[in-house]
Amino acid sequence: MLSSGSDTPQLYAAREPIFPRRVKGKFRNLKWIIMAVTLGIYYLTPWIRWDRGAYLPDQAVLVDLANRRFFFFMIEIWPHEFYFIAGLLIMAGLGLFLFTSALGRVWCGYTCPQTVWTDLFILVERWIEGDRNARLRLHRQKKWDFRKWRLRITKWITWVLIAVATGGAWVFYFADAPTLLVNLVTLNAHPVAYTTIAILTATTFVFGGLMREQVCIYMCPWPRIQAAMMDEDTITVGYRDWRGEPRGKHRKGEGAENLGDCIDCMACVNVCPVGIDIRDGQQMECITCALCIDACDDVMERIGKPRGLVDYLSLADEQAEREGQAAKPIWRHVLRPRTILYTSLWSIVGIALVFALFLRSEIDMTVSPVRNPTFVTLSDGTIRNIYDVRLRNKHGEAREFRMSLTSPDVLRIQLEGTERLVVTVPPDSTTLQRVYISARPGSAPVASDRTELRLWVEDLASTDRAYRDTVFNGKGTP
Ligand code: SF4
Ligand code: SF4
Repeated sequence: MLSSGSDTPQLYAAREPIFPRRVKGKFRNLKWIIMAVTLGIYYLTPWIRWDRGAYLPDQAVLVDLANRRFFFFMIEIWPHEFYFIAGLLIMAGLGLFLFTSALGRVWCGYTCPQTVWTDLFILVERWIEGDRNARLRLHRQKKWDFRKWRLRITKWITWVLIAVATGGAWVFYFADAPTLLVNLVTLNAHPVAYTTIAILTATTFVFGGLMREQVCIYMCPWPRIQAAMMDEDTITVGYRDWRGEPRGKHRKGEGAENLGDCIDCMACVNVCPVGIDIRDGQQMECITCALCIDACDDVMERIGKPRGLVDYLSLADEQAEREGQAAKPIWRHVLRPRTILYTSLWSIVGIALVFALFLRSEIDMTVSPVRNPTFVTLSDGTIRNIYDVRLRNKHGEAREFRMSLTSPDVLRIQLEGTERLVVTVPPDSTTLQRVYISARPGSAPVASDRTELRLWVEDLASTDRAYRDTVFNGKGTP
């Protein structure tokens, strides 16, 4: 960017800090509610307890890295079930596509963590330093007198406390929150916990307090990507220029009757958290937070004009209204082939996940044939294959599992270290069991070099069963 003001053109323009003005209205209220709900969920979730019995953690939401498990209330995800996480991420992506194609950057304007924390930091700044004009005066005041130091230090300390709470809340998702809190306070926590908190404290302070809109404009790739999901029917925030222009102060005797509804009061610009003028048309920087709608509606009410000079509008609506036609009803913006496609895909993935969740077995096993060598011939002529079988017990108490075989009769199963075909697996854990399958000499031969077989495992307490198919190598001897 070229900046003027000196003889030598500058390629870099310093950032002009933005001090959004306070605004009241229905969209501002909606943003307050969403901020309270999202922050409440983030800070409080690790403290919700959930009884899972004696052997499992009682934290409702826990990423248990040590045991490679993810707990979410009554759901427990094991590493081999990572497809649930992948499915949820796909659903989140499709949901984002759906909302963006229908309502533009509604995610950015209302629920993105960057927006929520920036809003919180601006709220703190306004409480301490005052509204826009007071903050502007303080910013332009060159001299750092006692008052300026006091206000700035109070603000920075409050921001740091919020940032520490943010980083602290994050690590509570990865360990038992009450225990970790005690360990953190008594300096007995793992260094990784302190490092994570320090990094998140720094990023929250810098992104939410200092960089603010620059993260959205320069760092975030989403504004560039979202354009691919939007079209002329997507509802975004727009300005009814055909109604507002020519803009100007409505002063008596100065031809106010020839002016449009916009009184050029700059209220919409002064409340904008990214510092743009919505009257210049749709812009990449706009996060669709709708605060300019609240600001302008307030102005319109005070001057006795209809609300909606700045409003949620699609490009198609703008064109239609300019030509004197009515805007489309809201459902025609929302129900479009693109949104129906995203909704269908989202539903398919969601239904598949729900089915997978309820159909998954409480017992499970993986079978790894030992292939070096693929089989051995014992001195008496028996051909033996070896398998490593991992049995998974998802219950909160120890369970006995009986193993069996579906195969040609000549094959026999035997477990290493025991005469029985029963394995005891501790609660909520896995056990690796070596299994021998043999074709005895003198038995009828196995028909080919590779014989398909099915290994069964049965939970003796519940009679739940599970199986895995594998192969037996080598022919039996006649
Ligand atoms: S132009 Fe309006 S909707 Fe867009 S970011 Fe600014 S205040 Fe929010
Ligand atoms: S708030 Fe409304 S009236 Fe004031 S400058 Fe913006 S568009 Fe014009």
